[in-house]
Amino acid sequence: LARQQSDNLDAAVVLIKASHKAVVLAHINPDGDTLGSALGLALGLRQLGKEAEVFCADTLPENLAFLPAYGEIRTQGPLPPDVDLVVLVDASDISRFGTLSQGSEGFCARAACLNVDHHTTNGRFAAVNLVDPTAAATGEQIFALLGALGVDIDPAIATCLLTAVVTDTRGFRTASTTPRTLAIAAQLHAKGAPLADIVQSVYYNRPFTTLRLWGLALERLRCRDGVAWTEITLAMQAQVGATPSEGDGVIDLMASLRQVTAVALFRETPEGIKVSLRSTDGFDVSAVAARFGGGGHPRAAGCFIPGGLAAAEDKVLQYLAERAAAP
Ligand code: 5GP
Ligand code: MN
Repeated sequence: LARQQSDNLDAAVVLIKASHKAVVLAHINPDGDTLGSALGLALGLRQLGKEAEVFCADTLPENLAFLPAYGEIRTQGPLPPDVDLVVLVDASDISRFGTLSQGSEGFCARAACLNVDHHTTNGRFAAVNLVDPTAAATGEQIFALLGALGVDIDPAIATCLLTAVVTDTRGFRTASTTPRTLAIAAQLHAKGAPLADIVQSVYYNRPFTTLRLWGLALERLRCRDGVAWTEITLAMQAQVGATPSEGDGVIDLMASLRQVTAVALFRETPEGIKVSLRSTDGFDVSAVAARFGGGGHPRAAGCFIPGGLAAAEDKVLQYLAERAAAP
């Protein structure tokens, strides 16, 4: 595996060095890892004299507005027709890029296509795939890639990548955090990334409506046979005046429960139900998410189920209970 990864790193470096005009795509429901990784890479590519733009086909979280070059992120396609490199970061399948993935066969065939990702469920959909499930964040992989490209990690790039690492490890608290994660974070901090400011912006910067929404969600918390779950409906969002992304932290509160096998959050959207899953110990929720067309990591995964709330809850909770009962 290590050999293959270094081969792929070499192949990625060759692809990038041959390119002149790149786009870097962040996934929908964007988080600190996908945006920090995409922006950090784009800034690195610009330092090498290349044109590079970041695209994300979704609403951007306001609490990440401090990220360097955040204001330049394009939230709508189409991608420029003359790009010769497409980099897709922090996603295991092409549908995670939303409307940008429409016609993706086209852009992946026309331009060199590189996927940098750390999900176990990665489908290796690009020409070159840098996939490392031992990385706590895609930001760790971008750090290695920029190193291999000879990019100087300036304070702006360091800020992007440290944000990626801090957010995907929930502030270095996840089991995915390794000595390498901490070593990279230490280097990024030393290169000028303001750790305390990043933590402040991400975790201590919440609108009043966010905590009111969390209160409504926690009020509906239920637990049966080691599985705890709750939901956020469109009506609950409207009641407190919260936007959809304000429900993002609820699953982490739920994951702090003791003596549960798994937790599930069901969020209503106009198109269907967004499901977030977390587990402790050995229970693999990425397999549960994959069963419903999603994916993720063993301890943090998600999927999207068209249709109504009750149907999605029934299906997922029943499958969770079956898997949890299996030896
Ligand atoms: P979250 O619950 O925070 O949205 O996502 C948890 C993890 O599962 C993340 O690593 C995310 O990339 C992955 N994930 C969430 N939703 C989906 C989905 O619909 N499809 C896939 N493939 N992965 C998802
Ligand atoms: Mn990630």
